[in-house]
Amino acid sequence: MPGQFSLFPDCYTPLFCFQYPMGLIIRSSTIHAAGCYTTTPIAKGTRVVEYTGPLIDKEEADLRYENKPVTYLFGIGDGSRVIDGHGMAMFINHSCDANCETEEIDGRVWITAIRDIAAGEELCYDYCLYDGGDEEAPCNCGAKKCRGSMYSREELRRRKRLAEKEMRRHPPAKTRTEKPATKRKPASPKRLPPNATKTAKAAAEKMSKKRTLPVGGRGESHGNAKKSQKAQ
Ligand SMILES: [Zn+2]
Repeated sequence: MPGQFSLFPDCYTPLFCFQYPMGLIIRSSTIHAAGCYTTTPIAKGTRVVEYTGPLIDKEEADLRYENKPVTYLFGIGDGSRVIDGHGMAMFINHSCDANCETEEIDGRVWITAIRDIAAGEELCYDYCLYDGGDEEAPCNCGAKKCRGSMYSREELRRRKRLAEKEMRRHPPAKTRTEKPATKRKPASPKRLPPNATKTAKAAAEKMSKKRTLPVGGRGESHGNAKKSQKAQ
């Protein structure tokens, strides 16, 4: 029965399997936790599923998810309002090489196929995260052109600029390390004629050792020494 939790014999995690009228199911994903898969082929350009959920102000969302590591917020318009995801689409994972994209049409957000998708494929789109505070959002999509982060390229550039600015304002304390002491090559034992006595050899070696400076470091340290997604 579509739209109800039920047991499906082909589900990887049968107790957590949800079927959608369009042939979408939720099951374990290699990208992250649970993902959304299609059981039927989807043609390029098809509106696959709507990103549904209550529409709330960004401030309210910030309060609601202040200390929550996972959010399903989708910013719309100028970003002052977000959809607090509570539907099938919230399970769609991010990929840097996605088969879907998001479209905002009249205040509603749709997940649309950007290429033909075969039955059994996991649906994914580029989250283009922004407004994530200090949190990292590493990407595990495994795509060849993975950018390593779920943040948008624009957001990554903004963060880099901010980090550089911060670095200029508060440069890290420098650790001045003195040039390490150069190890002096031990003096070679004086060459002795082949017929020299053991005593003479030992004396020469003793002298040689005396002239060898102790090696070791003189180096002394003078120590100053929540994210939101956005339609593309
Ligand atoms: Zn990636």
